[in-house]
Amino acid sequence: MADYIYTMEIRLTPDQLKGVNLVQEVARAAGITLYLTGGAIRDIISGFTIRDLDFTVQGNPLKLQKDFERAGAQLAGHDEDFRTLFLVLPGNVRAEIGMAHTELYEKVGKAPVITPASIQEDLRRRDFTVNAMALSLNEGSRGLLLDPFNGVADIEAKLLRILHNYSFVEDPSRLIRATRFAARFHWPMEERTQQRYDAAKENKYIEHISRSAVGHEITQLAHEDDPLNVIRALEKEDWLKVLHPHWSAAKVDTNGLGLLMKTRQQMVDLGYTVDPSPAVMHFLTARLSEKDISDLRRQIPRKDLIESWRDIEDHAKELAKRLTGKEAATPSRTWNLLSGARPEMILFLAVTARNQSVAQKIKNFLTKWRDVQKRIPLPEMTELLITPALPEYPKIARDVFMLLLDGRLRSRTETLKFLKPFAPPPPPPPPPPRRGRGLKAAAALAPVAPGKKSEVAKGKGKGAVAVAPVAAVVGPVPTAPAKAKPKASPKPEPKAAKAKNKPAKRAPKPGGKHPAKPKLKPKLKPKKAAHKKAKARKR
Ligand code: ATP
Repeated sequence: MADYIYTMEIRLTPDQLKGVNLVQEVARAAGITLYLTGGAIRDIISGFTIRDLDFTVQGNPLKLQKDFERAGAQLAGHDEDFRTLFLVLPGNVRAEIGMAHTELYEKVGKAPVITPASIQEDLRRRDFTVNAMALSLNEGSRGLLLDPFNGVADIEAKLLRILHNYSFVEDPSRLIRATRFAARFHWPMEERTQQRYDAAKENKYIEHISRSAVGHEITQLAHEDDPLNVIRALEKEDWLKVLHPHWSAAKVDTNGLGLLMKTRQQMVDLGYTVDPSPAVMHFLTARLSEKDISDLRRQIPRKDLIESWRDIEDHAKELAKRLTGKEAATPSRTWNLLSGARPEMILFLAVTARNQSVAQKIKNFLTKWRDVQKRIPLPEMTELLITPALPEYPKIARDVFMLLLDGRLRSRTETLKFLKPFAPPPPPPPPPPRRGRGLKAAAALAPVAPGKKSEVAKGKGKGAVAVAPVAAVVGPVPTAPAKAKPKASPKPEPKAAKAKNKPAKRAPKPGGKHPAKPKLKPKLKPKKAAHKKAKARKR
């Protein structure tokens, strides 16, 4: 039997997995039964990108709003009728918590009667078999997959299949959804589904689509990996004008959108968690009038998307302005400024910046400046015992990076000269071995003076000291506003400079004109310390 919890854990991003745990914790504390459902399960099993997390609870999730907020989630909207909470979980993870319910369609074109129900009943009101599965996240049954319509088999067959013959009549938004999924996954509709689809289209059932379904489908476009492909498919089927009568593929800024998706991928590869949806909406509607855009926005249920789409140009302008000012006068300052900026803004500005210098700075930030990390002499730092074990290591490493960025450490020799004063004293030698075999062991453990290669550092033996990874040196790719200010300057320690093996008198200050006084202090002056210890031993 497939282990779906294991599959879920390896397929979700770390942030999504944390999101699942957060929701699970809140539901458990509230004593409410919870399932991961819909598209999330489909994508976990099929291997496609998991775009968002759909949860279903047996109970009313609106009552849990405060609990979710306390646990770190942000409310992005809610739907009273369907009792659904739209959340943004830490790490920009989109989630929906819906109430398990049945939908009774009494008349074509009329909203269904919603009744709270069990998860089994809820799965019966879903659109396609591949979306009608639920994974239990409850104690006792955790990992149990409910798949009453054999969705797993349809995923394997790559087919879209409705659950019953009246599916498109009951909810015509499923026609749009069928087109969207077929375009995204390149999965055709199963034969009978296709017949029902054609009949529903011919009978113009789409005229009965609800306003809220239109809003939901507009929102979904913003999260497509290839939105242009989907827009074209919707246009071909005549569904795009259902979402807005003036919308067409011709209203899309295709160049901008193409560049946006490319840059987004580049940022994802660099480790950013970036939500491109506001920028996608900007380009998808680039040639629509202001009024049409406002109409579209009004229908979107997630207020976070409405706001971020509305404000994206203004925020990008602000960032562009800062990038032309003093704050970005040097590469290190620009790095700090962009590291603190929202990835969404960097992405949007990378595509839309008209000012050459702004565009170049963003380009350098995403490409050239990353290579500067490779010039940080990690093996030598390890030999000097400047490793992540040192509390001041992050600052030292960051300062070296900043100085390299600004071209103020131009050679390896200069870099090592800067680093040497930060080398901690070597550890004290072990007590002398008593006999025979002990000798060998002691030799292996003997400390090595900074600058000399130990057997361990040379990579010999089992416990070879790994060279600190580059990410550990300049920190992870920033995804949250960093507090680093360009003022913080790396300076070698002054007392060490007075010691016999005098290092560089003055170290350059990143982002600044003048070399500045060193701030970081190695705790002990290596030679004096060794001398003291030797004396003590003699005594
Ligand atoms: P996506 O990857 O586009 O987010 P999704 O399947 O998760 O796909 P959502 O619109 O987020 O799509 O809906 C979540 C789930 O809710 C679906 O998988 C489906 O089970 C159910 N659902 C959504 N819309 C409908 C609908 N119109 N009719 C029936 N079930 C629906």
